[in-house]
Amino acid sequence: MRRYSAFAIAREALRFHSGWERAWRSPNPKKSYDVIIVGAGGHGLATAYYLGKNFGITNVAILEKGWLGGGNTGRNTTIIRSNYLQDSSAALYEKARSLYETLSQDLNYNIMFSPRGVMMLAQTEHEVRGYQRTAQANALQGVKTEFISPQRVKELCPIMNIDGPRYPVLGALLQERGGTARHDAVAWGYARACSDMGMDIIQQCEVVGVRSAGGVVTGVDTTKGAIDCKKLGLVVAGNSGALAGMAGFRLPMESVALQALVSEPIKPCMDVVVMANTVHGYLSQSDKGEMVIGGGTDGFNNYTQRGSFHHVEETVRALVETFPMLSRLKMLRQWGGIVDVTGDRSPIIGKTPLGNCFINAGWGTGGFKAIPGGGWATAELIAKGEPGALSAEFGMERFIEGRFIDESVAAGVAH
Ligand SMILES: Cc1cc2nc3c(=O)[nH]c(=O)nc-3n(C[C@H](O)[C@H](O)[C@H](O)COP(=O)(O)OP(=O)(O)OC[C@H]3O[C@@H](n4cnc5c(N)ncnc54)[C@H](O)[C@@H]3O)c2cc1C
Repeated sequence: MRRYSAFAIAREALRFHSGWERAWRSPNPKKSYDVIIVGAGGHGLATAYYLGKNFGITNVAILEKGWLGGGNTGRNTTIIRSNYLQDSSAALYEKARSLYETLSQDLNYNIMFSPRGVMMLAQTEHEVRGYQRTAQANALQGVKTEFISPQRVKELCPIMNIDGPRYPVLGALLQERGGTARHDAVAWGYARACSDMGMDIIQQCEVVGVRSAGGVVTGVDTTKGAIDCKKLGLVVAGNSGALAGMAGFRLPMESVALQALVSEPIKPCMDVVVMANTVHGYLSQSDKGEMVIGGGTDGFNNYTQRGSFHHVEETVRALVETFPMLSRLKMLRQWGGIVDVTGDRSPIIGKTPLGNCFINAGWGTGGFKAIPGGGWATAELIAKGEPGALSAEFGMERFIEGRFIDESVAAGVAH
């Protein structure tokens, strides 16, 4: 594969851009692979990439029922942060955040990582105490965050009204090296690198059954026929329950639609990401100028993968007290994704009751930020057959043993 560079752009400019190669191949499936990954979202593609890069395993197929990156990876609001409360979460999310810092160079693909800073607003006394506690925990974990005053919040984000009558801003938890990245580019960059290593990304190929013999996986049935494999990774986010059913086990997880919307584009007015969890809304400004606004989850389990009017109204109504200028913006688009939520709001990365079948799921409303770290940990799990240090505590047996990794404050409503 030809490397992308300034010279390549100049060369192609001189020959009317006729020499660009396709970013990834679209092969037909082979009869069998060493590893099949189901789901070409960010986590599935990153898992495949680190299987090749860290363990030299490249006889890999990534099967996707739609188009790659078309699930939650292409639908999220792209917030990246690692200011979690529990040590095991902070380690996993900080690994991911630090990989994001150099991912463009690593993949030779501009993922537009923008560490513009993430502020989580404290708008009640309870939140002040909670975020001060998180800042202390982060200091012990080696994650750089600080609790800042309302005046500093206003300096960083002048469009904010910090004196709201119901919920004045009392401070914020700031992570300066948190930020955003271009979600499609993360999927496309990993896909291009996987294809370059000889892996097969097979789109429009839905897995409809999991085959096994003697309690060990042997392959999958797909809409493009049966494919054998020695190891299987299920990385399908909101569809995890359905895939687990095919593999013969149940997951402690619910699927629910999470929604977001964007406004018309406006001039640059905000160069930081703000999350307001009390009123529940969060926003950042995209490079195109749109205000990217995250809403809430539906109050009932569903697989709808689309937006609804009441969420637009609820989310914008909640935010206008703190961001009065939003009331004058037209909203352009809204959408939804199916998120997979566990009881303790932490992911599951681990073995399953079916031999040689592994799972990465349960990222809920906040797994975009974790893609490089989740993929890294899942690749290690699949390659070695046992979890490594990063994922050791994230197995699903924690729900039987009562060892929860409770991130309901850090991840329950926020992203
Ligand atoms: C509106 C919204 C806002 C969000 N905001 C943020 C945010 O700001 N920050 C953050 O960190 N996270 C956020 N998230 C969460 C984040 O998007 C997800 O946690 C993350 O993208 C999950 O990645 P994934 O690769 O596991 O799943 P996905 O990207 O959903 O990939 C799973 C893939 O599996 C495929 N699949 C499913 N079933 C099958 C089958 N039977 N056969 C073959 N393929 C199958 C799907 O088509 C899909 O492409 C948000 C999510 C939504 C919906």
